[in-house]
Amino acid sequence: MTLDRRTLMKLSLATPFLASATTVARAEAPTMGASFARHRRFTLGGFEVTTLLAGTTPRENPQSIFGMNISEEEFARVSAENHLSTEVSQFFFTPVVVNTGAELILFDTGLDQAGITGALAEAGYAPDQVDTVVLTHMHGDHIGGLSGDSGPTFANARYVTGRVEFDHWAAAGNDGFEAKVRPLAERMTFLEPDQDVASGITSVAAYGHTPGHMGFHIESDGAQLMLFADLANHPVWSLAHPDWEVRFDADKAMAAESRRRVLGMIAADRIPAIGYHMPFPALGFVDSHGDGFAWVPEQGQFMT
Ligand SMILES: [Zn+2]
Repeated sequence: MTLDRRTLMKLSLATPFLASATTVARAEAPTMGASFARHRRFTLGGFEVTTLLAGTTPRENPQSIFGMNISEEEFARVSAENHLSTEVSQFFFTPVVVNTGAELILFDTGLDQAGITGALAEAGYAPDQVDTVVLTHMHGDHIGGLSGDSGPTFANARYVTGRVEFDHWAAAGNDGFEAKVRPLAERMTFLEPDQDVASGITSVAAYGHTPGHMGFHIESDGAQLMLFADLANHPVWSLAHPDWEVRFDADKAMAAESRRRVLGMIAADRIPAIGYHMPFPALGFVDSHGDGFAWVPEQGQFMT
């Protein structure tokens, strides 16, 4: 069949399908893979807070990590109720930068040097700008970015960590500690619970995950925020079920007690929180719910 020009025009006017079919074919674009933001910045009083996605990776068999002391059936039921796979779980590693106006303070350093420097760069920071590095505890995914092929990552930083945590690993011996932490010991300040890193930033004991694991309470001009680090490592399996035993918790009973105490405090005070392993951007609220807690991700409350 041949169509003259006039008939073609009539057809395309009368049948939008012809026109749109042509458009779809011409607009075909390559798929580009999953994408997501790697930093999230907001104001807290006079401070500026930025969460950094320094790494993310899937891990198989989450029950062996998060549900060691419960039945397979219960783990499957809770997971299904929360739209979670029991085959694989996505892990997030989220250091936090706090700009107090006087100091740029980095909480934890991710898995490795490339991860933390890449995340800092995307957020607009150079490692040399970091004045203070705070370590919540000394697992590899928190100390890994302290140094790398190019030596210490943060040329101008002082370091702050808990005395109990440092003393534990110094005595226990550990490859990661020897490689990453001990070489910086001379530039470290050691904190007890309830002591200040800087004005408005105070350590909170949350022992159990490791012997000296600490969170940090941040307050500026009346606005508050809690960094709870690895107190709870999953929003459902751990935060909603504080007594489920977690493979990474050194003292499982003490970790559960700390979860109930510190998460209880965050929920009672109704202040926002950042959890190092919460799904990125790792910012939200904690509510008391049933026998545990609910993680309530941010819903537009931090747009300035
Ligand atoms: Zn961790």
